[in-house]
Amino acid sequence: MNPKFTKKLAIKSIILIGSIAFFSLFPKNPQTTSSNSIAQIPPFDNFPPKFLKPRKPQIQPSPAATPSPKPPEQPLVFAPPAQFRSQIVYKASISNSKVIALTFDDGPSPETLKILEVLQKHNAVATFFCLGRNLREYPEIAKKVVQAGNAIGNHTWHHYYHDVTEKIASNEIDYTGIHIHRSTGAKSLLFRPPGGRLNNGFADYAKKKNYVVVMWSIDTKDFLQPPAAVITRTVLSQATSGAIVLLHDGGGDRQQTVEAVSEIIPKLKQQGYRFVTVPQLLQMQAAQKQPNGDRKPK
Ligand SMILES: [Zn+2]
Repeated sequence: MNPKFTKKLAIKSIILIGSIAFFSLFPKNPQTTSSNSIAQIPPFDNFPPKFLKPRKPQIQPSPAATPSPKPPEQPLVFAPPAQFRSQIVYKASISNSKVIALTFDDGPSPETLKILEVLQKHNAVATFFCLGRNLREYPEIAKKVVQAGNAIGNHTWHHYYHDVTEKIASNEIDYTGIHIHRSTGAKSLLFRPPGGRLNNGFADYAKKKNYVVVMWSIDTKDFLQPPAAVITRTVLSQATSGAIVLLHDGGGDRQQTVEAVSEIIPKLKQQGYRFVTVPQLLQMQAAQKQPNGDRKPK
């Protein structure tokens, strides 16, 4: 055989063997297999770890054993739209629908359950301004208030009327807030000062803490226990859209209040009113783009 030819053959053989050895040592990068058909792309499980996100535990429980996780529940917060924070509100300016907000102070108490029954019967909701000391005594009742779709607000711990230092106002309002959360799971930025007093330190502290100070436009004076018909007449004669009605579910026997509410709700419904919570009422005003609203007493 020609020695030149033999040498060329030997060199070609070495190159061929070398190439085979080279490609077998370095397999093709999966990302660069563009010339291959899709069928040849390895399944994800065969990709090197650097192409995969960290894997979950290897042992997958059966779907029946672990139902798909629920999305995390949003914390329940009763807060006014931003424009009402640190403001005093007496009523809302609502011109495009007939809505009214009933509010009940000084609970929760066993009387609250009777009010809840009436509200539920008429498919209405309201706002309850609770005392911290009553929340501690009746946390289950407060929980029912919120579970039924009502709003809850802060009415201080002791219901002091006298002037208070900022430290006392802080204790009274902050601890009540803690007990609102502890009993209902909700947070609230709704505050009503005891007796509606705005100058004894409570309202100032509440405003500093971004609460809306919720007053009222209709005072039923139901705490004086007038006949139910008187309470009913007071509300029906003054009802306007956006009104906030002051009533009580604490402070003793509330039979007249319960009877009055049983009359008021169906009668105002007949007139086309809907019953909403205070945050809903303020939201409706905000949606009407009337940022200043009516924050002064009638
Ligand atoms: Zn009160």
